Amino acid sequence: MLCEKCKKNKGEIKLPYLGHLLCKRCFCNLIQRRVKKEIKQKKIIEENDKVLLIDDKSIEARISEIIINSIYKKVKLTKKHVKQFDLEKIKKSTKSLIKKEKISKVVIPFNLDKEINYFTECVFSGNKTSKIGHYKEEGIIFVKLLRNVLESECDLFAEFNNLSVKRPVEDKKIDDIKGLINRINKKHCETKFSLLKSIDKLNKIIK
Ligand SMILES: [Zn+2]
Repeated sequence: MLCEKCKKNKGEIKLPYLGHLLCKRCFCNLIQRRVKKEIKQKKIIEENDKVLLIDDKSIEARISEIIINSIYKKVKLTKKHVKQFDLEKIKKSTKSLIKKEKISKVVIPFNLDKEINYFTECVFSGNKTSKIGHYKEEGIIFVKLLRNVLESECDLFAEFNNLSVKRPVEDKKIDDIKGLINRINKKHCETKFSLLKSIDKLNKIIK
């Protein structure tokens, strides 16, 4: 069967929440458009910004780089390699690079599943949720470029763009909350997107 969007290429992916068959190209365009809507329309990253990408060699870091380069023509993108990215601890060497290069926006490797996990962990442990969404710290905007893209969509995007990165085993580890949400999402495919909306609403109230 042909892709129901472009009606040219072979339809290969049926996203449960979308209802029609897409080819690889239209799927990647869909993800890019969703990200673009989030960051360009809301002016989270603008054309002349100096942007730093925290590169932990993850699928999310690779995809973030591809999408920024395709959306923006003038953005100066610098990369900072880190072994492991930890939302709670931005490394000193990263902070000094931000100062040295006069960076205004930092893109961090994140996705929708990670955002849900982070929020639930914060809420259940009674920690602050100040780093939900794109957040500001010491005058710098930290951008979760892929916060509205599912982990499963990131994996498909990586596969269709022939990225050779693999998701590490510890990322796939299922704890109670993650497992529960995954099970609900299988039955009700809109769950994670709805959760993200609720998180944004809740976060305004409990911040
Ligand atoms: Zn297509």
